[in-house]
Amino acid sequence: MITLVPFERVTHAVMEELKVRLLEVFAAEVGSVPPIVIPLWTYEPLRGQYNAHSLLQVLQEGKGHERILGIVDRDLFVPRLNFVFGVADPVGHRALIALPRLQQGFYNLPPDPSLFLLRTVKEAVHELGHTGGLEHCPDPRCVMYFSNSLADTDQKDYQFCPRCRTKITF
Ligand SMILES: [Zn+2]
Ligand SMILES: [Zn+2]
Repeated sequence: MITLVPFERVTHAVMEELKVRLLEVFAAEVGSVPPIVIPLWTYEPLRGQYNAHSLLQVLQEGKGHERILGIVDRDLFVPRLNFVFGVADPVGHRALIALPRLQQGFYNLPPDPSLFLLRTVKEAVHELGHTGGLEHCPDPRCVMYFSNSLADTDQKDYQFCPRCRTKITF
């Protein structure tokens, strides 16, 4: 069971795409809860970004086989990194993905809604993979390949490679 937790304004299109694709990849029930507020204390004014680890703590832990996936339309950082696409808490069975840097508009490029949704799915599957005990994979086509940049994200699939598929505990 995967529970999607949107922070404030996350579009219907994103939520629907995640429901369809996560069901396909994990063969797990995918539900969602109403949007929750982004707490002000997670904002770092000096950086103009939100602290990914703080926002992750706002999410409840997944109970039993449940996995929690937070989705936030704000730019995230963790200490010592300029930004992150997402973070995961494997012990608490929860993860978080950030949407702004998945948009072509972030790089002053024309919008591409279907590319944006595909990137969103890849990040979601990747972070949920971490909650299933997976580490980064050396196969650049595997969804568990580490994305240093969007070019990495765009060249990988939204599915696990056969090795990761057999290792994941979900
Ligand atoms: Zn990762
Ligand atoms: Zn892999």
